[in-house]
Amino acid sequence: MKRAQALQELLEIFGPRGVLWEDHHLLLYEYDATIDKGRPDFVVLPTSTEQVVAAVRIANRYGLPIVVRGAGTGLSGGAVADQGGLMIVTTRMRRILEIDPVNLRAVVQPGVVNIAVSQAAAAHSLYFAPDPSSQKACTIGGNIAENSGGPHCLAYGVTTNHVLGLEVVLPDGEVIEVGGAAYDWPGYDLTGLIVGSEGTLGIVTKAVLRLMPAPEAVVTLLAVFDTVDQASETVSAIIADGTIPGAIEMMDHTAIQAVESAKRCGYPMDAGAVLLIDVEGLPEGLEDLARHIARICEHFDAREVRIATDPAERERLWSGRKGAFGAMGRLAPSYLVQDGVVPRDQLPRVLRQIQEIGRRYGLTIANVFHAGDGNLHPLILFDERDPELTRRAVEAGAEIIRACVEAGGTLTGEHGIGLEKRDLMPLLFSPADLEAMARIKAAFNPENRLNPCKMFPSTRMCLETWSRRKARMEKPIRYRITPAPTEAEEELWI
Ligand SMILES: Cc1cc2nc3c(=O)[nH]c(=O)nc-3n(C[C@H](O)[C@H](O)[C@H](O)COP(=O)(O)OP(=O)(O)OC[C@H]3O[C@@H](n4cnc5c(N)ncnc54)[C@H](O)[C@@H]3O)c2cc1C
Repeated sequence: MKRAQALQELLEIFGPRGVLWEDHHLLLYEYDATIDKGRPDFVVLPTSTEQVVAAVRIANRYGLPIVVRGAGTGLSGGAVADQGGLMIVTTRMRRILEIDPVNLRAVVQPGVVNIAVSQAAAAHSLYFAPDPSSQKACTIGGNIAENSGGPHCLAYGVTTNHVLGLEVVLPDGEVIEVGGAAYDWPGYDLTGLIVGSEGTLGIVTKAVLRLMPAPEAVVTLLAVFDTVDQASETVSAIIADGTIPGAIEMMDHTAIQAVESAKRCGYPMDAGAVLLIDVEGLPEGLEDLARHIARICEHFDAREVRIATDPAERERLWSGRKGAFGAMGRLAPSYLVQDGVVPRDQLPRVLRQIQEIGRRYGLTIANVFHAGDGNLHPLILFDERDPELTRRAVEAGAEIIRACVEAGGTLTGEHGIGLEKRDLMPLLFSPADLEAMARIKAAFNPENRLNPCKMFPSTRMCLETWSRRKARMEKPIRYRITPAPTEAEEELWI
C-alpha cells in the first residue's frame, strides 16, 4: 500500500480543510498536557459519525494505528500518537443535539466542551455535574474516555455516574449504541466499560448525558491553616461528621505562592495550607451548615475561616483553584502532575512522604488536590529542557505513585493511565487481573489498532510491531493535491 494513496483517500472524504499532513501542522498535534510527544502521520477533523467511520476504514486499509483526540488537555499521554498513524480530532463534532429538561438529559457530540453543556442547560436551571478544572477547554469525549472527575465530584460522582448512553464507532468501522436515554438497560454494562477505557475500545461519537438540577444556593468557605496536617485532619473530620460538602479542595504553601501571585484571589501568602469548601443546596439552613463546618475547621486550629455567599467573592476564591496548574509557570518552566489516590486518613502521612521524595530528588513539589476524595495532585516542578531534571521528575513521580499504592490507594483518580503510568499497572494489578482486562481489549480492538500500547504495561510484542510500522513512516511526505502524485512521489509504506 502507498502512503500517498492513503492521503488521497482521506482528502476525498474530508477535503483539504479536513486533513492535515504537513509537518508544521502535525507538530501542533504531537503533544497533550504531559511531557510525552509523538507525531501522527495524518490528522483528520470529522464533523459526523459517518466521517469517523470512513476515517477508521481508511486506517484499516492502510494498517494505520488510530489515536482519537479531543482538546488534548489529557494528563497521561492518552492522545499522544507515540506510534504515529491517523489522529481523529473531534473538535469539529461540537453540536449539542438536544437538551431535554423533562427527562434531565442532554445529547451531545463528543467534541462539545465540558462547560458548554452546563451553559446550554442553565436556561432550565440544570447542569452537567462533572467539572474538571480544565472544563473551559476539555471535551466530553475526553471526559468519557478518562472518566474525569473534578472538585464537585466528591458529592455527585465522576463522569461514569453521569453518562446514560453512547454511540461508539468500533475499530472495524461498525457503529454500536450502548445504554440509552432510559435508566437501567439490560445486558452487560457496556456504557460503564467504555467510560474510562481511554480510547482503546471504541470512538465515542455521541453521548447521552445526565443533567442535574442546579443547587439553589452555594456558600464557599476558605479555611486557612498553618500546616498541611491540620488541614488534612479537618477534611477527615468534616466527612466523619456526616456532612458531604459539594467540594473540599486543598492547596499547600508552595501552591498558594504560585496561585496568589498569578491570580490575586485572596489566599494568605504565609499560610501552610488552605481548604476551599463548597456547601450547596436549599438556601434555608445553608449558612448554619457553613458555620457548623467553620467550627470544625476552627477545632483543628484553622487560624481564619472566611465564608463567602456573594457570587463574585466565591468566583474569586475558586479562580485560584481552577487556575492553579497554569499558575505553576510562576515557579518553574515545567511541571509533572501526579494523580494518586489514598484513603483520606492517609493524607497527612503520604503528603509528608511526598515532601521527603521531593527533597531526595532535589525538586520542589506543590500540592493542589481534591482532598475530599483523597485524590492527590503533586505538581513536580522542573525544567523540561534539562534531561537530568526531567529524569528525576519522572522517577520522583513514580515513587509518589508507589507510596500511594502502599498506603492502600491507587495509581490514578481521574487522569488515566495512558502512556505515563502503563508500566506502573503491575503495582496494583496481578498478572491475572491484567490478562482479564487484555482479553476485553482484544474483544473490542483485536488488531490493537485503537490507541495501541496505551494503558497496559509495554510488552515487547506491542512495541516491536508498532515501532516497525512507525520506522517505515518516518520519511516526510511529499504530496501535492494537484496534479495527482506520480509514482516517484509515492512512498512504499506497508
Ligand atoms: C489545567 C488542567 C486541569 C485539569 N483538571 C482536571 C480535573 O480536575 N479533573 C480531571 O479529571 N482531569 C483534569 N485534567 C485532565 C484533562 O483535562 C481531562 O482528562 C479531560 O477529560 C481530557 O479531555 P480532552 O478533550 O482534552 O481529551 P484528550 O486529552 O484529547 O484525550 C484524552 C483521552 O481521551 C481519548 N478520547 C478523546 N476523545 C475521545 C472520543 N471521542 N472517543 C474515545 N476516546 C476519546 C483520547 O484518545 C485520550 O486517550 C486537567 C488538565 C489540565 C491541563
